[in-house]
Amino acid sequence: MHNISRLMLRMGEITLKGKNRGRFEKVIAEHVREILRPYPQARVHREYGRLYVETGGVSAELLIGLLRNVFGIVDIIPVKQAEPELDSIIQAALELIGEHALQTETTFKVTARRVWKPFPHSSQDMNHLIGSPVLRANPLLKVDVRHPDIELRVEVRENAAYVYSQIIPAVGGFPRGSNGRAMLMLSGGIDSPVAGWQSMKRGLEIECVHFHSYPFTSERAKQKVIDLTRVLAGYGGKIKLHVVPFTEIQTAFTTTGQDNLMITLMRRAMLRITTRLAEQQKGLAIITGESLGQVASQTLNSMNVIERATELPILRPLVMQSKDEIIQVSQQIGTYDLSILPYEDCCTLFVPKSPATNPNLRIVEKVESFLDLEEMIQRAVEQTEVMVIEAGSSTESSSTEAMEEDWL
Ligand code: ATP
Ligand code: MG
Repeated sequence: MHNISRLMLRMGEITLKGKNRGRFEKVIAEHVREILRPYPQARVHREYGRLYVETGGVSAELLIGLLRNVFGIVDIIPVKQAEPELDSIIQAALELIGEHALQTETTFKVTARRVWKPFPHSSQDMNHLIGSPVLRANPLLKVDVRHPDIELRVEVRENAAYVYSQIIPAVGGFPRGSNGRAMLMLSGGIDSPVAGWQSMKRGLEIECVHFHSYPFTSERAKQKVIDLTRVLAGYGGKIKLHVVPFTEIQTAFTTTGQDNLMITLMRRAMLRITTRLAEQQKGLAIITGESLGQVASQTLNSMNVIERATELPILRPLVMQSKDEIIQVSQQIGTYDLSILPYEDCCTLFVPKSPATNPNLRIVEKVESFLDLEEMIQRAVEQTEVMVIEAGSSTESSSTEAMEEDWL
């Protein structure tokens, strides 16, 4: 059965968590199966802490493109499989070099690993035993043990040997959902979808919360957030999206005569509502797309006053990143083009001429105490619309009831 082309998927950081290893591997395997569902010919199996995908005739390139995005996979290696016997391994090595279709002089070396100790040749011996016939068959090849163009790796295990020369980096991180659940405050901007993806990459299961001020903000602004959630769902599977009606609260704040505190007040109300939703959904933290110093509400002083409104930890994956770095990730993950669509967000709409960069907590609390904030927050939570967004290309708004059932 040698020479079957396979992909070997290596899982990384999870080794840190010794006793969780088996569970984590299972989560990744499940995720891989889900991603490969449209390609039933491709088969997945788990062996000695690794996952293998047999391509079953599906383009390896296509599969690699999908599998690179599976959280917890560190790299992907297209392997030739051979019997754990020298002849079979040499045959696979020759084929692999053949596929490189050498045109000019090329350097190489063999790096063999004997994982299965009863194999009769040591790793050192194998380097020669495999390297020599490969050299004889390929006059363009020269050995260079320091900086070879091709490193031909061989790994001998009890049931099979693997030969490969290419290691393709994948996204890494923790398996999806393996580090608990948190609420992502998702605006229509560039930052928060990136913060969401980075949180998912660290193993958080996210639920999105979006504040919507209809009719000040349009249906299209809401649709944009649904579409952004759908892109994120492409990386982790279906995601709950809570759309909170924010018009009443926002309008109330405009009557306080405290224009420069508008953003501070709105953010605090958003945090309070998100905290309630987190309690309902058993979320243990709130994620935002804030980045230090980016705008007035993201100075250290502002963050301080804003975050007093919740007791939950606030996770800010982007806090130390520059806009350029954030934009780069948003382009890579496919949210950028949606994010730059011009539909207004509820905050941009009410942004004052000179927002406070150093708001005073006592004044903010005083202003809040003049309003029936608690009642308004309660109403907003009760009237929150919940959707479950699945990966896919549809841009249709999802029917709440049907999706709710689907989630259960
Ligand atoms: P983004 O690009 O994510 O909108 P930003 O740099 O424009 O971020 P702000 O608009 O000040 O910054 O928002 C800071 C954070 O507050 C956002 O990253 C997001 O987490 C949250 N946020 C802002 N507006 C909303 C909203 N309408 N609904 C949900 N969360 C929001
Ligand atoms: Mg914004």
